[in-house]
Amino acid sequence: MKKKEPPRTVHRPPSGYISVVPLGHIKEDVLRVVADSIQGVLRLPVDVTPEVGLPESAFMSARNQYNVLDLIKFLESNHAGPSLKVLGVTAKDIANPILTYVFGTAFMDGKAAVVSTARLQLSVNGELVSREQFLERVVKAAIHEIGHTFNIPHCHKDHCVMRASNSLTELDEKMSYLCDYCELFLAEAVGDALRTRSAQTRQAESG
Ligand SMILES: [Zn+2]
Ligand SMILES: [Zn+2]
Repeated sequence: MKKKEPPRTVHRPPSGYISVVPLGHIKEDVLRVVADSIQGVLRLPVDVTPEVGLPESAFMSARNQYNVLDLIKFLESNHAGPSLKVLGVTAKDIANPILTYVFGTAFMDGKAAVVSTARLQLSVNGELVSREQFLERVVKAAIHEIGHTFNIPHCHKDHCVMRASNSLTELDEKMSYLCDYCELFLAEAVGDALRTRSAQTRQAESG
């Protein structure tokens, strides 16, 4: 039987909606599931940009980690372009000055978010998890952070992807989609963001 070729991630031209930016090398299957799942949740076009190097200034050498707040600023200043939101995906370990590590970070209503795959490969016992479980974790982290960029706070509903998760167990317990309440909230926030943007475009055209 002929071996099935893995589908290639399409580096789509900037749609001006959502951009997924690989920060350093990221495997194609990861980029593909992240882009597809965000597209499914937001119902907006998602493009994957070519790989971008991590800024050296964000590296915390004493901790051997990247400062996620610096990575967010870097994306906002250099790679946001016309996009509504930008999601950086890195395989490097990330943290902020307060926490020892994070799976991802975003500011409420911010333009950029970052997720890391560095801590999503192993089970709590330290064994390698299946590729399927790994990808599911990445998707959960990505949707969660993109949700924050649309101003969705943490949710307390059982298994909603917007629940806070500070451990792999908590991440594994969540669904990879939003509860009905958060989904409504998100749809409204996406609608608002699109209306604001088209009003700005109209103003720019007439101004
Ligand atoms: Zn959160
Ligand atoms: Zn929810």
